[in-house]
Amino acid sequence: MIKAVVGANWGDEGKGKITDTLAEQADYIVRFQGGANAGHTIVNDYGKFALHTLPSGVFYQHTVNVIGNGVALNLPILTNEIKSIVDKGVPMPKIAVSDRAQIVMSYHILLDKYEEERLGKNSYGSTKSGIAPFYSDKFAKIGFQVSELFDDEILKEKVKKICTLKNVIIENLYHKEPLKEEDLMEELHQYRDMVAPYACDTAAMLYEADRQGKTILLEGQLGTLKDPDHGIYPMVTSSSTLAGYGAIGAGVPPYAIRQVVTVCKAYSSAVGAGEFVSEIFGDEADELRRRGGDGGEFGATTGRPRRMGWFDCVASRYGCRLQGTTDVAFTVLDVLGYLDEIPVCVGYEIDGKVTDEFPTTSSLAKAKPVYEVLPGWKCEIRGIKEYDSLPENCRRYIEFIESRLGYPITMVSNGPGRKDIIYRTSSLS
Ligand code: GDP
Repeated sequence: MIKAVVGANWGDEGKGKITDTLAEQADYIVRFQGGANAGHTIVNDYGKFALHTLPSGVFYQHTVNVIGNGVALNLPILTNEIKSIVDKGVPMPKIAVSDRAQIVMSYHILLDKYEEERLGKNSYGSTKSGIAPFYSDKFAKIGFQVSELFDDEILKEKVKKICTLKNVIIENLYHKEPLKEEDLMEELHQYRDMVAPYACDTAAMLYEADRQGKTILLEGQLGTLKDPDHGIYPMVTSSSTLAGYGAIGAGVPPYAIRQVVTVCKAYSSAVGAGEFVSEIFGDEADELRRRGGDGGEFGATTGRPRRMGWFDCVASRYGCRLQGTTDVAFTVLDVLGYLDEIPVCVGYEIDGKVTDEFPTTSSLAKAKPVYEVLPGWKCEIRGIKEYDSLPENCRRYIEFIESRLGYPITMVSNGPGRKDIIYRTSSLS
């Protein structure tokens, strides 16, 4: 059984917490896209962790944690992350890295930084992790695959080619120090040694596991609205964030993905630039940011304050549809307990017309939110285990949003911990 856990929105919906919770019943946890540019925050018995590259199953002994071929593999970050969790008392997890995954090189990170600097106020708000230059090179067919690290002849030839190509830009556009062939070879040798214990044919491993009836969780990064095809292009990430891409980025059959758990947060947040129709500002946003998530809505990778907004049914319904949602996990609901009234964005007004269809980016820029205001529940809901024990207005909020989404909310997360989860049978299931 293969399941995907993915985001409906701009990311930071709480996928890490849901994956960590579902991982208890899983055998394999697989990252299939993205890199160390976003982070999952996980709170469990060992403490609080921000994972950027490791799959969220690393806290269990019974899981194999797979970095699939679709990932932008940053080996120094992977190595440090393994060390940091082991240093905090987590037993060494089982890790497998696809021998077809490609490697984020130091020059990808430099080029990301140089380009953001050059763009100045028009920058993309990149985390400068090298992700866009990495995927550009992958599709321009000049990336380094893990398997190639073990062949010095291939490396030498490619390094030469890379230096010729990249130095034209580095010297003439950015006016920075050129790359040196010997430095890149040295870097690649270090990466070879770092990845050697984990590298294998992970697609074959997952095929076998699926045949044996094991449970495999595909863990997405960011969310639908950051997908390069279906998101708010160009303010998107550089690899597909959709469950469908899990088939490619993990190397599993598309029809084998039977369950798609799309994570929606009970309000909105976004990092980086780009359209965000239900965004709020000033004191209202500051208060939600301060109370949000687990200790405030600040980026797990960058520490940047996240942009805040009310729940957006238009964007989330679209987000769920593109993911192929079978289940919605509705998260961080406990945070809203302080509000007397809660606005929910139910439509966009564009050129005087109201729509509930999510438009392309150029129309989105003109969209104004249409709100419906729901009553708050004004109490703490953490610790509640049964759906029927939630306050009536809280259930109304969930059911209102579920009806607007058109997808069953089968999990409600009412706290950051593993056990803060309420399973529910939806009439839409
Ligand atoms: P991800 O990238 O989708 O995994 O999301 P992040 O980890 O960036 O952001 C989610 C934040 O919300 C983290 O700080 C989580 O610990 C926290 N979180 C997840 N679920 C809940 C919840 O139900 N309630 C509260 N209060 N915090 C939650």
